Amino acid sequence: MRTRSVGLALLLAVLPAIGGCNRAPDAADATTDTPSLEGEVESRAPRPEDTEVWEPVPPVVVPGRNGAPPSDAIVLFDGSDLSAWSAENGSAAGWRLEGGAMTVVPGAGNIRTRQGFGDLQLHIEWRTPAEVSGDGQGRGNSGIYFMERYEVQILDSYDNRTYSNGQAGAIYKQRIPLVNASRKPGEWQHYDVVFTAPRFGADGALVSPTSMTVLHNGVLIQNHVELRGPTSYIGEPPYDVHADRVPLLLQDHGNPVSYRNIWVREISGW
Ligand code: MG
Repeated sequence: MRTRSVGLALLLAVLPAIGGCNRAPDAADATTDTPSLEGEVESRAPRPEDTEVWEPVPPVVVPGRNGAPPSDAIVLFDGSDLSAWSAENGSAAGWRLEGGAMTVVPGAGNIRTRQGFGDLQLHIEWRTPAEVSGDGQGRGNSGIYFMERYEVQILDSYDNRTYSNGQAGAIYKQRIPLVNASRKPGEWQHYDVVFTAPRFGADGALVSPTSMTVLHNGVLIQNHVELRGPTSYIGEPPYDVHADRVPLLLQDHGNPVSYRNIWVREISGW
């Protein structure tokens, strides 16, 4: 009996040294350790605040109403002038300014922003002619070329059959829109696009492709779609290395498509 008592005492003396965290609670531990049902103490239980992150603090942006630009937007067209745009040769943009909108003048050529952009959120409103003429790709055709290369198609796709990867909201010849959310010809429509520029390594190799998410009249039609390369009418050319910031371009496809309320927000991560 005496031998067993000594053995038990020794065991109790050694246990704290080998047990580490299995120490008896003391005053300092009382607030951080949680007693188990057996009266021993386990490591601290997770708390909600363990996963709270307080920095950085997102900057305040005042949102616009009904498609109006938020406070940090770069306004590219507010209906008053074409100063943010030029012809592709750098001369003044030759599109018609009228009634708070700008309209393609067939033959005047594509126009592009004077400023270059990388990752971007875009809001753009557009209208195909109320008077329908032509069909397929010849009816209300224009387009938004991000970085002068990657086109989201604009077309009168209201009861106007064409190849599906060429209709309104298509990433031209690369991705069919999920649905056709087109309004009637002559009605204003809008796209909201989240555009992610491609990344190239120092050796010119593609690191990550262009991607786009597109909403047409508030309806999701392209969900984080990765592009296989720049837009092409014929064939599928590979990516070409280009600058980090390149203008946005609007297409003259020979149809008097109108635009208004165009703004962008440059996207940057933390
Ligand atoms: Mg087009």
